[in-house]
Amino acid sequence: MSLAQTEEAAPGPRDRLNFIAGEFVAGSGEPFENRSPVDGRLLGVVAHAGEDDVERAVSAARDALSGDWAGLTIDQRVEILHNIADGITARFDAFLDAEVADTGKPRSLASHIDIPRGAANFRIFADVIKNAGSEFFTMATPDGSGAINYALRSPKGVIGVICPWNLPLLLMTWKVGPALAAGNTVVVKPSEETPSTATLLGEVMNAAGVPKGVYNVVHGFGPGSTGEFLTRHPGIDAITFTGETVTGEAIMREAARGVRDISFELGGKNAALVFADCDMDKAVEGTLRSAFANCGQVCLGTERLYVERPVFDEFTARLKAGAQALKLGAPEHADTGMGPLISAVHRDKVLGYYERAAREGARTVTGGGVPEMAPPLNGGFWVEPTIWTGLPETSPVIREEIFGPCCHIAPFDTEDEAVALANDTDYGLAGVVWTENLTRAHRVAPKLRAGIIWINCWFLRDLRTPFGGMGKSGIGREGGLHSLEFYTETSNVCVKL
Ligand code: NAD
Repeated sequence: MSLAQTEEAAPGPRDRLNFIAGEFVAGSGEPFENRSPVDGRLLGVVAHAGEDDVERAVSAARDALSGDWAGLTIDQRVEILHNIADGITARFDAFLDAEVADTGKPRSLASHIDIPRGAANFRIFADVIKNAGSEFFTMATPDGSGAINYALRSPKGVIGVICPWNLPLLLMTWKVGPALAAGNTVVVKPSEETPSTATLLGEVMNAAGVPKGVYNVVHGFGPGSTGEFLTRHPGIDAITFTGETVTGEAIMREAARGVRDISFELGGKNAALVFADCDMDKAVEGTLRSAFANCGQVCLGTERLYVERPVFDEFTARLKAGAQALKLGAPEHADTGMGPLISAVHRDKVLGYYERAAREGARTVTGGGVPEMAPPLNGGFWVEPTIWTGLPETSPVIREEIFGPCCHIAPFDTEDEAVALANDTDYGLAGVVWTENLTRAHRVAPKLRAGIIWINCWFLRDLRTPFGGMGKSGIGREGGLHSLEFYTETSNVCVKL
């Protein structure tokens, strides 16, 4: 396949090239197609980075590490990070178009979350690095003169950044922002499904004054391709990854060579607890978002709901009405509430769980199939928002991450039972508690085994707070100063007085 645009393809070829040492370049691998999830049309072809391209990207990043980038003062680096944020904001529509085309998500969603957060991720870490203080400790010595200790932070080195497709710009900049703030250089491997915004960011990096080689992008797939070439490259000092737990296991094996550090944000099978003393309007509205936003393709989304028995029927009926009112449609329509899944492969995976739920005797409250979409949308990867009840807790539908617009609702009778049900999972990413009883909220929150717990809200994020998961949901925490823990090395200096 040629990198030249085909007749069918939309404009925007630079959006899909590799970005190495400040240049947009093709790759030695066979270019691959980028198709719209909305209607299956060809958006363009993507440069495919081979092992030699990854080699060049890593060497560019290594050279940059000790070049102009290292010579900058913190204030100069902070200014560049703000320039990057300004550059994203100045090209808001270009980023929005690219993200919406790749993911098929509603423009209303991407314009409120994905693109603003892409810019905010550089501003927050500019402020964090500027204000990160040092720790000093005085100590006694046998001769009575004493000593002082202080800790120095230095960049960790070249960071491999491997990203998923559900929030492409947001999740990639969540890692690139702190990595650059701390003085590292990066080689980014975006998802093969969503190549555009990472490359578009290359243009912003050049305009913002980022030295060549500090930010590099290589496109391709995972195993036996660009992702694996990157993770096993000895020139990569640490790997930060967001994606599926099983992919994390493969990357961890590669990171073991050379004992390299990892930060993993992985899958989830998140529970929400709805108590009878909740504000029902808030609980229903919040759950409609946590279950169906981004077509359920949010790691923090709710796929398991436990509802206190006295309000079970009312809650289920209202959630059903809300799900049925969600309008499926093209991203540009203002009333579109839900878009398609990312790909045919992912649609088939989600539909596999829909079929399994039916086979195992679930009562389908709503959905469960493929909606009728008018041409050209019938070429896209649509599924219905779906709610089930009646499955045993042992069902794979309840135990495995589906990553689609679906949830299972079960009743509970006591607070202890609710906590036990929520915690009965190998994952531990997020939990939501709906109750107007303040004491209950504070009593339940610490009992939930999850990295982030929301009380009466969902997806509310202060970027200074720790973010990450327990169990199979991840390793490490990022956010604010927590990100600096991963993106820097610390050495202690002990000065005898
Ligand atoms: P994925 O694991 O399939 O792919 C993620 C990235 O890893 C892609 O760029 C892919 O090419 C690459 N990859 C795959 N195999 C690889 C290998 N062996 N070596 C190196 N790279 C490899 O995940 P996905 O389907 O893109 O994303 C969905 C998953 O991401 C879900 O499980 C979701 O829960 C998770 N996720 C987690 C968070 C979080 O913050 N915890 C956020 C978003 C998504």
